[in-house]
Amino acid sequence: MANTIKKIGVLTSGGDAPGMNAAIRAVVRACSFYNVDCVGIYRGYQGLMEGDFEELNARSVRNIINKGGTFLKSARSMEFKTIEGRKKAYEQLTKNNIDALVVIGGDGTFTGGVYFSQEFDLPIVGIPATIDNDISGTDFTLGYDTALNTVVDAIDKIRDTASSHNRLFFIEVMGRDAGDIALNSGIGAGAEEILIPEEDEGVERMLESLRKSKMSGKLSSIIVVAEGEKSGKNIFQLAEYVEEHLEGYDIRVSVLGHIQRGGRPSCFDRVLASKLGVGAVEALLDGDSKVMIGLSHQHVVRVPLTVAINGEAKYDKELRRVADITSV
Ligand code: ATP
Repeated sequence: MANTIKKIGVLTSGGDAPGMNAAIRAVVRACSFYNVDCVGIYRGYQGLMEGDFEELNARSVRNIINKGGTFLKSARSMEFKTIEGRKKAYEQLTKNNIDALVVIGGDGTFTGGVYFSQEFDLPIVGIPATIDNDISGTDFTLGYDTALNTVVDAIDKIRDTASSHNRLFFIEVMGRDAGDIALNSGIGAGAEEILIPEEDEGVERMLESLRKSKMSGKLSSIIVVAEGEKSGKNIFQLAEYVEEHLEGYDIRVSVLGHIQRGGRPSCFDRVLASKLGVGAVEALLDGDSKVMIGLSHQHVVRVPLTVAINGEAKYDKELRRVADITSV
């Protein structure tokens, strides 16, 4: 690994996700292993422009692998979307002798990284971290597995009350563009119907399915709705619509919201974060840039950031088929 990189900066940006701390830890420790200095950048690209930096060593990241959120904090920065903002950020990097960046976040973070890298010829590697699992080129993003388990746990609890009162529950889960959380948690928690952004099968299909469920003797039902689903109705309007068109259901709505982002990362996310963090530093030391470190069929892979941002969504139609069969 002959290279000219002596100091790497690491930041977390966009929505926080469980496993970000574990990824920072892996980046810092990989830097230490390869004798490269590491600088933590607070508050994402905003802190980068403001020079909000702290030198990190292997001991600075003790006791964080098990913590949710990100100790470096995250931010959304409008100023970094401008060339003037990115110029400020570059000046901070040169002032602090930082040669390369690891950016941990979602597609917005990667888009900013691509512009920044192109404009200033700066090596940048991305680590996908977003609970939505909506990044191409990796089977999993950091935080997704933890969020999925949080959601299944919440639905299990709601089912207890649904079955005690013969209720129909609409449960909204995160997923603006990707239905991965809804589809997998829906199957895992035994939902009757699952509405996702990738397909709009219409509310009639849902009504028909509920009618059939009722006739087959089901007394309570759970419908999992991804926040970005495409019926054109929000979850409260969906519930009202069903109430108007189906007799005899006591309907309730539950929006899970931000509990899905929090909590201690699952073991899967901690291991994934460790692999991707080490992979990111090794990619930079190999001279790679503008790549995302992802996981494909159990292997750590380097994928162009442009592919990660613009690639096809990876909606698994087999899951829909399994959901339909197992909810009869
Ligand atoms: P999540 O998936 O959780 O929303 P994200 O990384 O997509 O995460 P964004 O808020 O979209 O979150 O992006 C994070 C930051 O990346 C933005 O606040 C902004 O600073 C930067 N960014 C996003 N899009 C661009 C862009 N087109 N040009 C430059 N910078 C950008």
